[in-house]
Amino acid sequence: MHIQQLRNATMVLEYAGNRWLVDPMLCRARTLPPFRLSGRRRRNPTVELPSNTDEALAKVTSLLVTHEHPDHFDSAGVRFAIERSLPVYTNRVDAAHLRGRGLDVRLLEELGAPFTVEVVRSEHGRGAIGWIMGPVCGYVLSHPDEPTVYLTGDSILTDAVLDAIDRHEPAVIVAPAGAANFGVGGDILFSVDELVTMARRSKATLVCNHLEALDHCPTTREGLRERFEREGLGDRVCIPEDGERVAFEHAKSRPSPSAPRPDTARAGMQKWITSLLA
Ligand SMILES: [Zn+2]
Repeated sequence: MHIQQLRNATMVLEYAGNRWLVDPMLCRARTLPPFRLSGRRRRNPTVELPSNTDEALAKVTSLLVTHEHPDHFDSAGVRFAIERSLPVYTNRVDAAHLRGRGLDVRLLEELGAPFTVEVVRSEHGRGAIGWIMGPVCGYVLSHPDEPTVYLTGDSILTDAVLDAIDRHEPAVIVAPAGAANFGVGGDILFSVDELVTMARRSKATLVCNHLEALDHCPTTREGLRERFEREGLGDRVCIPEDGERVAFEHAKSRPSPSAPRPDTARAGMQKWITSLLA
């Protein structure tokens, strides 16, 4: 398994012969509005894609979308999928709306053997803000020849996230680490404290992205690295720079997870309102 970080949550996941472009936000810098509602507001994304993006995009075989927000699937990402006739793997919550955009949408959970996929419900904030952001999904992906990887999607720390970590014991957890906040209300992504909790809860390498690309994500790579070093967890975190490609080895034996909790989440109207920004 290789992960090439591109920008924010956008990365290429090379996994058992697939090269998934995950959560593509492919627009030029400063072409989206500020996400912060107060304080230091800047247009997004605040940085361009890295110089090796075209080379990385040339090799992708499909897309993988955790949720339809503009920083995870923007109109440039939609155009890329359509122009290249690439299938878009996603979850039941987002599939119907994405099909309406003319995309070849498939459910990741129906990937079939030898892959095993569990869709894990994520919470993109607490209370009213979490409701406005709508349901979000994470994915635990396993294959006999690859390390088990858990892509949490945009989330705060919840029992469902901890439960997925406990049951699957993933070797790699990809987590959004920018501690995003609109300047109004609580955080809508894991805080640094929550990332430390996740690292202590598991033996996984925590791959942190969703950093230094959006105006409402204050956490820096340097600050995050320093905190993990201070906690004695420096060897458990991987914070790739944009453009960097990282390899992960397959551990020979892995546990069989117990049954998942039932998930009855349905996309609400509010999600399509936030997705219209894309
Ligand atoms: Zn996001």
